[in-house]
Formats: sequence, structure tokens, C-alpha cells
Amino acid sequence: ALNLRADIQGCLLVKLDKVLIVDDDPLFLGVADALIRSLGADKVFCHDRPNEALSQVMRAPEDVDLILCDLNMPDMDGIGFIRALSDRGFKGPFIIVSAEANAVIKSVEKLAEMVGINILGGLKKPLRQDDLKALLNQARVNALQAMSSAMTEKHVRAALSDGRVIPVYQPQLNLTQMQFDGIEVLCRLADKEGKLGPPGALLAAAEEHGLMTPLTFYLMRRSLSDLESWLKESPSHSVSVNISALTLADRSLPKTLTTMVARMGLETRQIILEVTEDRLLKFGPDTLEVLARLRIAGFGLSIDDFGTGATSMEQLKRFPFTELKIDRAYVQGTQEDDFAREVLTTSARLAQIVSLSCVAEGVETPADLEQVAAAGVHRVQGYLLARPMLAEDFARWRQSPQTLDAVA
Ligand code: C2E
Ligand code: CA
Ligand code: CA
Repeated sequence: ALNLRADIQGCLLVKLDKVLIVDDDPLFLGVADALIRSLGADKVFCHDRPNEALSQVMRAPEDVDLILCDLNMPDMDGIGFIRALSDRGFKGPFIIVSAEANAVIKSVEKLAEMVGINILGGLKKPLRQDDLKALLNQARVNALQAMSSAMTEKHVRAALSDGRVIPVYQPQLNLTQMQFDGIEVLCRLADKEGKLGPPGALLAAAEEHGLMTPLTFYLMRRSLSDLESWLKESPSHSVSVNISALTLADRSLPKTLTTMVARMGLETRQIILEVTEDRLLKFGPDTLEVLARLRIAGFGLSIDDFGTGATSMEQLKRFPFTELKIDRAYVQGTQEDDFAREVLTTSARLAQIVSLSCVAEGVETPADLEQVAAAGVHRVQGYLLARPMLAEDFARWRQSPQTLDAVA
């Protein structure tokens, strides 16, 4: 039944019975019309004025399968059109086709997404059939994936109570001391046969159904007990745990965590809580209270995925963070990518200026490692050094001498 539903949903997204094209250039309308028809569309409506397109959409919104729209138009531009659609509750699907710079197209895509439009993507003019086809196919794949991996609240609860939410551990190498002194806890979802899969769908559903905090506490208790001997062996060893913004707004968090850590005979400074950077902007007073109390209690606080959000210098100083974790987009392949390398170097320097410890994630090659070391990063994490491991594999890995061939 699920497959059938998924198929219908998938087809809906690329159903091309009725397509609207909005562009002030008659030449473009002609070309795009022919192109869309060649992909099998029944009815194509060409509008050189967004206002007319808007009226048509509003007369029969359920009749519109897809809108292709230009950005730069004289009366109402593409941005105005997107806003008008959103104000009237129309969601798309929608594709931007524009001759503007990629950064402009990208930001309007983001805007459209933020106002609730199902934006399939943006295409650069001249419109090419292959690009359009690829975009529609991708949309279909995404819809199928979302359908088949969607988890209900019951699924999440069952996964938790069946013990199918499993922590895995990825070691971090301290480049100053040349020893593995940190570990990140990541989670995996096991299926009924015990096969481990990625955490994305589980985490999204847990967040949606208000189960993120119980999930986090479960992982935390389990990982602290798995890592107890490793943490007690050396007070400088630390474990990093990902915390969602919702959990961070729970005012009882500092007390609960402090008690948990004390009961296990561990030190709070051995625990680092990672918060993704894109959430920083949404922090309200409760989150600030929690962050301040956690810091006072001695926990480490890390800005995860740094470089993907929009932290200002001011915020870096204002929030009580202790660590900056550079996103792998600015770690991988930086030898060939001047821009990425600049972001890496600047981020590491910034960390130094505001006295934050600096970690690089996603180190996959010796060249990646060389670049992050040159940038002055303190600790590194990535497949080159160690993959995320199950508790028993980590215990074995600890015992075997950890050669640092990759680093030498
Ligand atoms: P993240 O916190 O940025 O975690 C790092 C991700 O990069 C992990 O993916 C890890 O397996 C992967 N990774 C590590 N080294 C490399 C490498 O060298 N190359 C590449 N390509 N990838 C590497 P994973 O485990 O699939 O987790 C994805 C995201 O899901 C995490 O990103 C984190 O945001 C979230 N997440 C995972 N576990 C938890 C959790 O227990 N709680 C919460 N709230 N979020 C979690
Ligand atoms: Ca993380
Ligand atoms: Ca990350």
C-alpha cells in the first residue's frame, strides 16, 4: 500500500498535465512551451504578466501541476509572484528559470522554500531540456524517498523501546598531543533484522513528534556507560553529543544532565554539547538561560557545522561557546578549492581570536588533513582516521595500537 501511495505521490510531482510559464520575454515563452510539450505536457499556459498567471492559479489552484517562472519582469517580478502565491496559500511545485547570477537564483530558491513554496529548484537561462528533466527526476526521487522513509510517532517509540536506536562512536584526534582524546556520539537506526541505517528519518520524526529529548537522554545514558572506562582513564578525554535546538530550550536540561554526569562519576567538562549553527539565530531567552547554565555547570558547548549558517562575529562573542566545529564543506578538497580553503583558514583564525577550541570534521584524505593542520585546527575527525564504530568495535579499536600512519 505504501509503495502505491508513494508512486502516486511521485507521479503527482512530475505530472505535467497543466503547466504555467511566466516570463515577459515572448521568445522564451515560445521555446519553453515547445520544450515542456516535448516532455509530455498536455496543456501549457504562457503568461507574459504574473498578474494574469496569478488569477489563473487562483481560479483553479488544484489544476496547476507546475509553474516555471522568470525572476526579472517589469510589473511584478518573480519574487513578488512567489510572495503573492504564498500569501494566497498556493504551494507549487515551482521552478525558477532566470538569467540572473547563480547566487541570486539560489537566494530566491531559499526565500521560496521559507515561505512554504514547494520549490523544485532554479535553472539558469537558456533553458535546456536535459536540465529540466534532471530537475523533475530529482524531485520525483526526493518525493519517493520522503514517502518511504517517513516515520510515524509510533515508529519512533517502537524503535526506542525495541532498542533499535544505536549509538556509534567516532574518535577525534588531537593534533597538538597526537592522541585520540575525543569522541562524537552519532546515532543509527537498526531495522528489525538488526541492519544499521542512517539516522536522518528517525531524527526528523523524533523532532516532529516531540521525542527528541527522550531520544537524546537515551543516547547519552547509553554512550556514557559505553565510554565510562575510556573517560575515567583520562580526565582530558571528552565525548561530544549532538543536541537539537528543541532540547536546548528545555529549562530543566542543565539540572538533568549535571545529575546524570555526577551519578556516573564523570566530570561535566568531559561532555561537549554540539548545536548546529543554523539554529543559533532562533535562540530565545530559554535557550540562552540553558546555554549559560550548562556553561556554568562546566559542560563544553560546540557550534556544529560552522560555515553553513550565518553566525555574526557579535554572536560568537555573545553565546557561551567553547568550541567551533568547521563543517566538512570547508574541510574536504580544500587543496583545489581556494574559496573553501580561505573559509577554513579564516574560521580557524576566528576561533583563535575568540579563544574557542577548533575542530575540523570530515577529514577524508591526507591532503585534507594537511590543510586543516596548516590552518591551525586543534582536533580532527573523519574517515581517514576512524569511522563511526559500534561500542564493541570501539573497545577493540582502543586495544589495538592506533597507528598514525595517515598523519605521519
Ligand atoms: P554531524 O553532527 O555533522 O555529524 C557528522 C556526520 O558526518 C555523521 O553523519 C558522520 O558519520 C559523518 N562523517 C564523519 N566522518 C566523515 C568523513 O570523513 N566523510 C564524510 N563524508 N562524512 C563523515 P551521520 O552519522 O549520518 O549524521 C548526520 C547528522 O545527523 C549529524 O551531522 C547530526 O547533525 C545528526 N545526528 C546524528 N546523530 C545524532 C544524534 O544522536 N542526535 C542529534 N540531535 N543529531 C544527530
Ligand atoms: Ca555533530
Ligand atoms: Ca557537521
